[in-house]
Amino acid sequence: MGMEGIKHIVLVLSGKGGVGKSTVTTQLALSLVDSGHKVGVLDIDLTGPSLPEMFGIQNSQIHQSSAGWIPVYTDSTQNLGVVSLGFLLTNKDDPVIWRGPKKNSMIKQFVNDIAWGELDYLLIDTPPGTSDEHISIAGYLKEHEPDGAVIVTTPQGISLIDVRREINFCKKVGIPILGLVENMSGFICPHCEECTALFSTGGGEQLANDLGIEFYGRVPIDPSLTSLMEKEKFSDSFRKSNLYSKFQDIVLHLK
Ligand code: ADP
Repeated sequence: MGMEGIKHIVLVLSGKGGVGKSTVTTQLALSLVDSGHKVGVLDIDLTGPSLPEMFGIQNSQIHQSSAGWIPVYTDSTQNLGVVSLGFLLTNKDDPVIWRGPKKNSMIKQFVNDIAWGELDYLLIDTPPGTSDEHISIAGYLKEHEPDGAVIVTTPQGISLIDVRREINFCKKVGIPILGLVENMSGFICPHCEECTALFSTGGGEQLANDLGIEFYGRVPIDPSLTSLMEKEKFSDSFRKSNLYSKFQDIVLHLK
């Protein structure tokens, strides 16, 4: 029960919203599964849970068993299980307006009461910034000794300032930084597949070098990703997208 059978716990963080943190979480999860691992994904973005939609399993529900809550598996292999508040809301259009203590008790349940079983990796998708959810998860994870955090950023300066804050937060609560992914780094032309820099590039790598953290790599904007995801099963669309090989490289950095 709970997290005892999990080998590696990795948080995915970003300084602000919309930089592709949840996208990176889903792609990392699938890349890990494709390289032979059993993976769980825990969505603790309580006010904006987007992972059920991203995985294309938004109509599923979490069930209770004597061992705890059973994650929603993306397919019958049960190699990829997902837990999100999104599965527990009766009306998905209602906003989640919770104060800190209620969020804290939800996260405590997520840490203690999920029947993950044996997992190679648990990826934890967090809200942007540093909020109640981060403070709660950092506290409850202490005894489970998480490997650390992967930080997602875009290449622009303004996003990088937020990353510095995120890194300082991790230092304060004792979560090691594993590495940094620069998402939306250039644009892959759908016609000629050439990658063009829309904004500046290289900011993430520079920051990683400055701060002495590992740079995991750049992920370009792939317009085909969203259109494929609207039409196909999540896993199929991901495997067909131009980003597939990028994430195969990025997961090699995880131990
Ligand atoms: P966050 O979790 O940081 O708020 P999301 O993962 O929800 O960000 O991404 C925001 C939007 O950008 C989503 O519609 C997602 O599909 C899209 N997106 C993110 N990264 C990429 C990428 N590399 N290529 C194409 N679309 C992307």
